[in-house]
Order: sequence, then C-alpha cells, then structure tokens
Amino acid sequence: MKVRSIARAAAALALICGVFTSCTNTTDKAADESPAKYVFLFIGDGMGAAQTAVTESYLSSLKGENGGEELCFTGFPVLGSCTTYSADRQITCSSASGTAIACGVKTLNGRLGLDPDGNRLKSIAFDLKEMGYRIGIMSSVPVNHATPASFYAHNASRDDYYSISMEIPESGFEFFGGSGFLDYRGKDGKSAPASEVLESKGYEVCFGESEFKSESATAEHLVFIQPEGREGDADNYEVEEMREEDSSLAEMLQMGLEYLGEEQPFFVMCEGGEIDWAAHDNMTMPMIEAILGFNEAVRTAYSFYEKHPDETLIIVTADHETGGVTLGSDGTDTIHWDVFKTEGKSDIPVSKEENARLNAAAKIGWTTDGHTGAPVPVYAIGKGAERFAGRMDNTEIKGKILGTENRR
Ligand SMILES: [Zn+2]
Repeated sequence: MKVRSIARAAAALALICGVFTSCTNTTDKAADESPAKYVFLFIGDGMGAAQTAVTESYLSSLKGENGGEELCFTGFPVLGSCTTYSADRQITCSSASGTAIACGVKTLNGRLGLDPDGNRLKSIAFDLKEMGYRIGIMSSVPVNHATPASFYAHNASRDDYYSISMEIPESGFEFFGGSGFLDYRGKDGKSAPASEVLESKGYEVCFGESEFKSESATAEHLVFIQPEGREGDADNYEVEEMREEDSSLAEMLQMGLEYLGEEQPFFVMCEGGEIDWAAHDNMTMPMIEAILGFNEAVRTAYSFYEKHPDETLIIVTADHETGGVTLGSDGTDTIHWDVFKTEGKSDIPVSKEENARLNAAAKIGWTTDGHTGAPVPVYAIGKGAERFAGRMDNTEIKGKILGTENRR
C-alpha cells in the first residue's frame, strides 16, 4: 500500500511538472518527450483484467479475506485500457497483436513483422537500437514463439519457427532469453540445431545459469535458454513445465539486466508466455502460478526502477485475453478457493474432465479455449507513464514509448 501511495504521489507530481514545463519551457518539454533511458515492456500473454482479478482473489483467500491483495503491477499509478483486434479479425492471435504492439501497425492473424500487404515493418526494438539502446528480448516460453518474435522477425507465418530463429542474428540485438527453440532442428528434424547456427553467427548460446555465469562476460551477443533437455520445447503447456534446475522468468530478467548493464540505455521486452497456454486449457491454478511468476519478474524491474526512478519506464500489458475467465459463475457470490487448495492445488495439469469439475466447484468460469476480443489493461510507472492513461489501441503503444504518440 505504501509503495502504491508513494508511486501515485510521484506520478501526480510528474503530471503537475509536465503541465508546468509545457507552459513555460519548450526545450524542457522536448526533452521530456524523449523515451526513458531504461524501458521495460512486460507482456502477459493472454492476461486480461479478469486473470489478474482471479489471481488477486486467490492471494486474498490465503489470508482468509475476500479481496485487497494486489500484484506489483496492479498497484502502478497509471492505468489504461487497450483494444486488441487485428487487421482481419475481431479476435487477434499473438503474432498479430505482438506485431501491433512492437511495430505500431495492425496486421493479419498469423503474420509477424509484416503488414497486410506483406511489407516489412520495423519494431520499436530496431528504432531504439538505432538510438543507441541495448536490446533484450525474453520470454518464459520458446524464444522464437510469436510474442518475442514480433520484436525481431518478419514472416508470413508465425509457425515457421526455424526461419524465425534464423532472424535472431540478423537483428543484432544483444540479449535473447527463452525456454528453448520450437523446431530446434527444423520442421523435418534434419537441419542444423538452431543453437549451432546462432553460434556460427556470433551469438553465444548459454544453456542454463551456470553457462551464463561462465560465458556471458566475453559474449558480444547472447541467447539464454534453459539447461539441456528443453532446447526443443514443444508448443504445449504440459511439455513446457518448469524443472528444478530451470531459471524463472525473474531470474532470466536478472541475468538480462546484468548482461545489458546500466551504462547505455536499454529496452527490455519480457513475456510471461505460459499465462496464455494455461488459459487455453482453462487451468486455473497453473494460470495463477504463471501470473505470480510474471509478477516476480515485474518486481525485479520495479527494484531497478526504485534505483533509477527518473530514467525508467515500466509498462505491463497483454496482447489479448485468453479463455474468457470470470471470477464467479452459475449466479454465485462466493468463490470456493478451498476446492483448489484441498483437491487441485498443483501446478501439474489434471485431466480435462477433472479440471472442468474443479473450476465448476470453485465457481471460476471459463467461456472459451481460445482468445477473446476483450480489451486488456495497461499498467505503467515511471518516465512517460502518464501517456498510458485512458483508452488506447495496441498500435499506439510503440509511439507512446518513443514519445512520438503515433496515433492512428
Ligand atoms: Zn494463445
């Protein structure tokens, strides 16, 4: 609560100062609109307003309360609402919305970094790289999955995973992180392993934290993936499950920050990818655990912000909502969290039927195993955060970060 009230006071002061300088000093105003030196863009894949409400309700229930718990980012002082439709569908997929967020242009579902006519788009990561920023792109799921790929790849199909991996070295971005690579040896399993190709093109590929510790100091470009055994992760929630020796998203972000350093400005895109995968399966507890892991990563960035409050911007949003989850179903006014605590408190997904029974008994509603067209929240704190207040479209996020307010 204290963090939130201090943050809100700081944001209010920033707003007042912004108004004051805009009336008095145009030079200061121009300086004010430059992007923050350190930019964190967090994307909780599939994380709509209800996903965080369900998570907060669960946390409150652990204290025997009906509400009141907040996540690190839901306490941020600036709140906006973002529309997510794609160029051809009311309900977007992750590559079309990732492209809209990264490049500021709507495209067709399934496309990455290309507009509806097939023209190449430039993501904000390339813009900021040209401005001297070091770039970190990371995700809790494979590094060539749709959301991270939206920031570096250009492909008519989000499923062309091997070609997408090959665009990593072309980007020249400093740090990539993910669980592994989809189609690690190509679709037919006969191509050179993605890590070998990347290493031949000047990227050090570190399998796990111990390799990161021994190899990162001398690497000019680095890809961090989980320890051996997960380099060929499947696009499937059950296969994706974390192992004891794996690094969490927060740990991956910490390594990324260590690697990028503070001397030069940086842009970090950090995705919580299994939020979406758990929500597709309507798995309530695994989704909550994915959001709590994502929240820990945001907390890592928040600690950084506390050291550099005038130079840091943190944005937390989603590419779309997944599952149409609701806090309450069947006309109830009570959530029975005890059902999960006593019967299903496990991060191991249960059978579809058992899962449906647990959700029904707990009164957590789900309306689809796909995405929905519901708008998603945008939470922001730090330099330029005020631009993210109110209603926006996902194509406006890039311009708001850059300070160019690319209204379309
Ligand atoms: Zn999805």
